[in-house]
Amino acid sequence: MQNIVALLREAADTAEILEHESMKRHTTFRIGGPADVFAVPDTEQAAAQIIRVCRECGVPYYVIGNGSNLLVADRGYRGVIVQIYRNMSEIAIDGDVVSAQAGAMLSVIAKRAQAAGLAGFEFASGIPGTVGGAAVMNAGAYGGELRDVLVDVTVLDRDNRIRTVPARELQLGYRYSVIPQNGWIVLAVRLRLQPGDPQRILRRMEELKEQRVSKQPLDLPSAGSAFKRPPGNFAGKLIMEAGLRGFAVGDAQVSEKHCGFIVNRGQATAQDVRGLIEAVIARVREQSGISLEPEIRMIGEWTETIENIK
Ligand SMILES: Cc1cc2nc3c(=O)[nH]c(=O)nc-3n(C[C@H](O)[C@H](O)[C@H](O)COP(=O)(O)OP(=O)(O)OC[C@H]3O[C@@H](n4cnc5c(N)ncnc54)[C@H](O)[C@@H]3O)c2cc1C
Repeated sequence: MQNIVALLREAADTAEILEHESMKRHTTFRIGGPADVFAVPDTEQAAAQIIRVCRECGVPYYVIGNGSNLLVADRGYRGVIVQIYRNMSEIAIDGDVVSAQAGAMLSVIAKRAQAAGLAGFEFASGIPGTVGGAAVMNAGAYGGELRDVLVDVTVLDRDNRIRTVPARELQLGYRYSVIPQNGWIVLAVRLRLQPGDPQRILRRMEELKEQRVSKQPLDLPSAGSAFKRPPGNFAGKLIMEAGLRGFAVGDAQVSEKHCGFIVNRGQATAQDVRGLIEAVIARVREQSGISLEPEIRMIGEWTETIENIK
């Protein structure tokens, strides 16, 4: 890894390149072992250079935003984690179009849009992710999703070219886009909102925040909903009906407040969370015949293959 560190520092000299960085510090679960290398680009060019070097050297890499939908193995990640976050978070507003770098937080974009009298992004104001991560996940809440407002994304493609892809080519669906399978890295996005009254927009954002605070276990580390919503049903409801409210493996627990969330009560390991996910899937399948699918992305060096839990 020494060699790759030197190459990355040379190719992207404005980026931060750290070694053996604990992923606990970079995931909302507060779980995860060390990444061999942790690279934080501050420009699109630096991000492109980092990915190019990894590709040319055949070193595995994984791009993250705020790590709010992520479980990293206790043994960590062998390769380079590229974090596109605060150092790439510029936002500009021109008429009803918001241009943001991929690392801009949804909450910050929502506040800027509100102040500019732009409506239509209230749904995203409480989702604790970057807009890059949200494009990949087609993040959504309270009847809205990124697909409703996304105009296009600027990506680094497989051939290390930076290009703009219209939203309609991303096949955005429920927590789905073709971005990962195409090997694209999101560098920036454009959103189209509608003119609205700033006070009304603010009230809507506050309303949604209250709903989140009353229903979600925001006092404990988590990665949000652990499972995708099965067609015509709710993961939390199925988990509750299977008698799993509060069920725990080590310090990983099905939230007492919202059964769709898995929370870290303090010292949960990634293996605890995996064990709990597996147990929940098995018990819900037994009770209802429905196979839950994890929404959380799992990465790193596991003792077993993660396919087991599908
Ligand atoms: C308390 C809580 C509440 C939540 N509520 C919601 C909710 O209401 N609705 C919802 O949809 N989600 C919710 N989430 C989940 C999460 O916030 C979203 O999925 C969010 O969009 C993830 O963004 P991120 O920047 O944290 O991405 P990460 O978790 O860092 O990454 C998620 C995925 O996106 C990829 N990715 C990230 N950035 C890039 C990039 N620039 N280029 C290419 N790939 C990238 C990663 O490789 C990974 O596959 C919640 C999470 C928490 C902790």
